[in-house]
Amino acid sequence: MTELVVSKRDIRKLKLEELKAFFVERGDKAFRAQQVYEWLWMKSAKSFDQMTNLSLETRELLKANFVINHIKVDTMQRSADGTIKNAVTLHDGLVVESVLIPTEKRITACVSSQVGCSLACAFCATARLKRQRNLSPDEIYDQVAAIKEQAELFFGRPLTNIVFMGMGEPLLNYANVTAAIEKITSQKGLNMASRRITVSTVGIAKMIKKMADDQVKFNLAVSLHAALNETRSSIMPINDTNPLEDLGDALEYWYQKTKSKVTFEYVVWKGINDTPEHAQALLKFCKRVPSKVNLIEYNPIDEGEFQQASDEVLAMYMDVLEKQGITTRIRKSRGKDIDAACGQLANKS
Ligand code: SAH
Repeated sequence: MTELVVSKRDIRKLKLEELKAFFVERGDKAFRAQQVYEWLWMKSAKSFDQMTNLSLETRELLKANFVINHIKVDTMQRSADGTIKNAVTLHDGLVVESVLIPTEKRITACVSSQVGCSLACAFCATARLKRQRNLSPDEIYDQVAAIKEQAELFFGRPLTNIVFMGMGEPLLNYANVTAAIEKITSQKGLNMASRRITVSTVGIAKMIKKMADDQVKFNLAVSLHAALNETRSSIMPINDTNPLEDLGDALEYWYQKTKSKVTFEYVVWKGINDTPEHAQALLKFCKRVPSKVNLIEYNPIDEGEFQQASDEVLAMYMDVLEKQGITTRIRKSRGKDIDAACGQLANKS
């Protein structure tokens, strides 16, 4: 006798209309779909048993037909500064990381968009894990929903901001990232404001233009780190195919279409980009579009090939940029003691 194996569908792949059809076909009310949808998205339910306003019979029907491929937040490490790092296990066993960063005014979720990364930036720990796959919209959404719960549970405060600065390159998983953001900002999802969301990219010119054409409403950050091609190419291989000229053109196009300022992320390293010539090049690049600069602290990932430049060098950069009206901030790292800071996400545990 052969057993008929019915593979169950991931219920969150269904649109509301499809879920309605599912119930109507079975003689139930379309309204049932609305209830299930609220559980799946607004309440981020992880099992059908949680859906307590549905009859037992309905829950059994759902169980027989569907699965919820929810992420599992496995380990939670807490830093002395309050930062929380989550190891997130996906339905196929792969692991990514996401981080909750509390400050006085904000609680920020830093989320991953890919398992590993294909970009090979020389200073980044994630680059050492080769890219395994893109995250689905749900897997991105779940990371945010989990951090939103943690914000409320551990800090008694709402999640205020989201940054795509975890593992992976969001613009190489553009469709899924934008689908996730759509749900995150929807009233039927987490109802967060697009203006509170920042997508950080290594700077893929073609995709920045696409974002501009799509009139996206979230913020754009570019990991620049050097405004001279030779230096940038030596630490970020993507610069070979996306040189600064193309990146600058794409950013001008972005600003024309969206009128949204660009944030440049920039680490200053000893012996790499710590001269006035580099600061001047950055100034010149910044002048191409309305922008601001975050000078971010380097988080060591190795035995010292890269070293943070001195405070004097940072002051020199500040001076060059601020004198010409470019808002510049020095950003101290958070969560360093648990390897949760920028560029340190590498599934160590
Ligand atoms: N791929 C995207 C998002 C992930 S990286 C991007 O490149 O923007 C998030 C930020 O951390 C980027 O600005 C990246 O350049 C920076 N970063 C990477 N490694 C770092 C390290 N060791 N110390 C400090 N920042 C680092």
